[in-house]
Formats: sequence, C-alpha cells, structure tokens
Amino acid sequence: MAKIMNSMWCVEPGVIEMREKPVYQIGPKDVLVKIAYSGICPWDLRVYLGKKNVPLPRILGHEIAGIVTEVGSDVKDLEIGTPVVGDFIVKCGVCKNCRNERENKCLNPTFLPGGYAEYAAFPRKNIHPIKPGVSLKAAAFTEPLATVFRGQTVLRLKPGETEVVVGVGPIGQLHAQVAKAYGARVIAVDLIQERLDLAKKLGADAIVNSSQHDMVAAIEELTDGKGADAAVVAVPSSPLVSETAKALAIGGRLNIFAGIYPVDPISIDPNLIHYKELNILGSADSTSTDFYKALKMIEDGTIKVEPLISHLLPLNKLQEGLDIVAKCQGLKVMFEVGGEEG
Ligand SMILES: [Zn+2]
Ligand SMILES: [Zn+2]
Repeated sequence: MAKIMNSMWCVEPGVIEMREKPVYQIGPKDVLVKIAYSGICPWDLRVYLGKKNVPLPRILGHEIAGIVTEVGSDVKDLEIGTPVVGDFIVKCGVCKNCRNERENKCLNPTFLPGGYAEYAAFPRKNIHPIKPGVSLKAAAFTEPLATVFRGQTVLRLKPGETEVVVGVGPIGQLHAQVAKAYGARVIAVDLIQERLDLAKKLGADAIVNSSQHDMVAAIEELTDGKGADAAVVAVPSSPLVSETAKALAIGGRLNIFAGIYPVDPISIDPNLIHYKELNILGSADSTSTDFYKALKMIEDGTIKVEPLISHLLPLNKLQEGLDIVAKCQGLKVMFEVGGEEG
C-alpha cells in the first residue's frame, strides 16, 4: 500500500485544508524529498487571499529544504539522505526565453505540487545538494534569495556605489545583504524601527525611518546631495516607486521588485528619467544559476538568513502563519515539517 503523507491544500481563497494523500510515485529521472522546512512567500498569501488567479485546489509553498528519501533509476549522482533544496518551477529549456538567459520567464513552465506537505517530488535537474553541516532552516531561504540575487544582478552594482533598499521585510533584508556583498553602501528604509534595527545589525550602513523622516530628503543628505546609484523597492506600493525614483543619482537604476495588486500605475516625471539617464527596471523569479549562487551564499555565511525567522510553526498552523504574514507581523514565517533530523 502506498505511504500516506499530510499535505495542506488551498481549496479556495481563504480556505486551507489538511489532506492525507499518497506519497508521490517518482519517475526514473526524479527525486523524492522529505521536507524539513518550508517558508511562506508573499505569493502564497496573494493566492490565499484570492488576489492572484491560479487554479485551485493546490498545495502552495515553494521555499523548502529537505532530505532525499528516494531517487529514480536514472539518478546516479544523489544518495539517499543527501540534504537538498528543490526548485518547484520546471522550465522547458527550449523556448525563446530559456534560450536567451531568461529561463525565469520560461514560456512553458510546469509548477510542481508545493512545499506545504511532508514530501515533494522534483526532476533531478531542479535539485541542488546542500553542503553537509549547513542548517536546513537556512537553506530553505534559497528560493527567495535566488530571486533577490537576480534582482540585484539587474541593477549592475559596482563596488562603492550607494543602494537604497525600500522596505526591509524578509525580502528587503536579503536585498540589503546581497548589495553589501556586491560592495555597495546600503541605506535601508522602512516604517518599522525593529526592521531597520535588524537591517543595521546585518550590515546596512544607514537606516531611514520614513514614518519620522522624508525619505527623499534623508537619502539626499546621506549621499551629499547626489542621490542613490541604485534602489530596490521591495514593498508593493506604486507611490513609493515614484518617490524612490526622485532619490536616484544621475545614471541611477531602480528595480520594482514587488508585484503590486490591485494594479496601480506609477507616476514618474519623464524628464527625470530623460535628463538623469535613469533606468527603471523590474525582476521576478529566478534562474537555476541564481538558485545555485544563492545556495552558495547561504552555505558560506555571506548572507545571514536565520535571524530573519520570526515564527517557526508546525505545518498544521499554515492558516495562522498566513494570517501573521497578512498582518505584517514579524519577518519570515517558516514551518518545521520534518526538521533538521528529517
Ligand atoms: Zn516566492
Ligand atoms: Zn522555457
């Protein structure tokens, strides 16, 4: 008889249901992973709140680390018991975008059943082994860090430049650290003082509490009137994008990193873009290269992720976890599924 696993299903917007399902039967090129930790992404919250149109019911969750428990007959390079992270989006590898270094925008992606379950199955190519000894809790940040890594790459930072990170929630905290790793001077902006204090502790050079100070004026002051060379807006707010653009230096780049729902057009003076030669950019998702690099940065300790975990809950508290994220309480909400010991 097939082994049974617990899995948390988003049945319809606002409704989460625990279901017992058979553990996946894997194909010859696949890997079965027993999930150790699984984090909440704002994307999960948007689906749960009905703000994102995806087919339901489904198992959400795409930020995991776990342990290999079974490999297909063609998989020769992975042993049972290996700690791994898995990428839940399978790219086709042959479309125009996949062929042009934009596999994150694959035209024919397959979305695997998600990580709010005891097990997940992946093709071998979507599995990244974790260096032994690295905490699985930390490795579960690989997927969000991969998207952040891509977001920083498009900004083409040079050492010594100043980058502003607007919004230092879990994602903004990662942006600030990756920008530091690129050699930038980082200014973190948020309304919540605790988040700013943490950003400072994790390496930000300056912090601006925008509930007390005018953000644009503060950035100007911190850059001797020149403005920031790069900025990432990690908050879903169109007015903040427009405002941040005013704080850019000549040649400045701005990455709109958060999806904004409902759609709210931005308003930026075109002369600002024209005369200051600004670049307004966006980035979303990640490639397997970003995944690989993100995991390396976690493994070698360049990016400190565990201080970002504010809540570690059992998987059956998924609904509670989503409510915590919805209220912007704490930082990263993570579920302990099998834990470090598997
Ligand atoms: Zn995500
Ligand atoms: Zn493709």
